[in-house]
Amino acid sequence: MRPVVSFFIIVSLFFSLSAVAENRELIVYSARKEHLIKPLFDFYTQKSGVTIRYTTDKAGLLLTRLKAEGSKSPADLLMTVDAGNLWHAAHLGLLQPVASPILQQRIPEHLRDPDNRWFGLSLRARTIVYHTDRVDPHSLSSYAGLADDKWRGRLCLRTAKKVYNQSLVAMLLHRWGQPKTEQIVSGWVKNLATAPFSDDTAVLKAIAAGQCDLGVVNTYYYGRLLRENPQLPVALFWPDKSEGGVHVNVSGAGITRSAKHPDAARALLEWLTSEEAQKLYAGLNLEYPVNPDVAPVAEVAAWGTFSADPTNLSIAGELQKQAAMLMDRVGYR
Ligand code: FE
Repeated sequence: MRPVVSFFIIVSLFFSLSAVAENRELIVYSARKEHLIKPLFDFYTQKSGVTIRYTTDKAGLLLTRLKAEGSKSPADLLMTVDAGNLWHAAHLGLLQPVASPILQQRIPEHLRDPDNRWFGLSLRARTIVYHTDRVDPHSLSSYAGLADDKWRGRLCLRTAKKVYNQSLVAMLLHRWGQPKTEQIVSGWVKNLATAPFSDDTAVLKAIAAGQCDLGVVNTYYYGRLLRENPQLPVALFWPDKSEGGVHVNVSGAGITRSAKHPDAARALLEWLTSEEAQKLYAGLNLEYPVNPDVAPVAEVAAWGTFSADPTNLSIAGELQKQAAMLMDRVGYR
């Protein structure tokens, strides 16, 4: 064999081998819990032959880690909850834009980054919940209405430190502006039955126990508790029908700036928005699929339909700091 020919053979062999390596393994950093991602990844591995190695941790810690690792990070994909966290990752320069007509077509525009650095993969509503014996749902209307004097000493909330509440207040800020939002949130604080709780499940349990009459939680926490106790005396209410819609948020993902396998990571992201993956991804956590062509599981569908706030979720990130400061100013801790 002439040396030039053998050189070309070696070079082309090298590129085909690296193409195989490109497609064989992916590394994911996930703030979404292991039991919610492992069944999906196992399914994908079986289907595609791609092995997925993952690390799960709190969102903030994963962002710190990605930042510290810089271009040496082994992570291809970051998965996390709340648009505020996804926005933050993009803002820190940890994610890269992904050009994918499939993702653009399957994910509604308001549930993904306008610059294509993160994409919502499942949808949750942060909505009002009430005790079915103690509250007439006709007396409910909106998030702003929870500031009304009639709810004095009857409201339970989760702490303002949680990004879910910061995103909710950020979206209210966008909708109503600073003075009115400040009025609303200070009304909530006045109406609290007890100090804010550290999680949504505690809010639901306090309502069920009669410690308070209503609150605001993410829908899947309600679904989980209802599964444990079908007699739970708590129901969901869809607010803001004529005021811009129910506040929704996402869990989602983005390809890291340092990804060693960006094409394989994009293929996984695209698969996650397919019908078979969406059913599993949303269903495992009693969430709504982001892909509007995929129906939620029966348990979730039973809660009825609602109109979601169509504002792009990047606003939740942009106004997050302002929202946190506002909450602090009115004594919501
Ligand atoms: Fe959660």
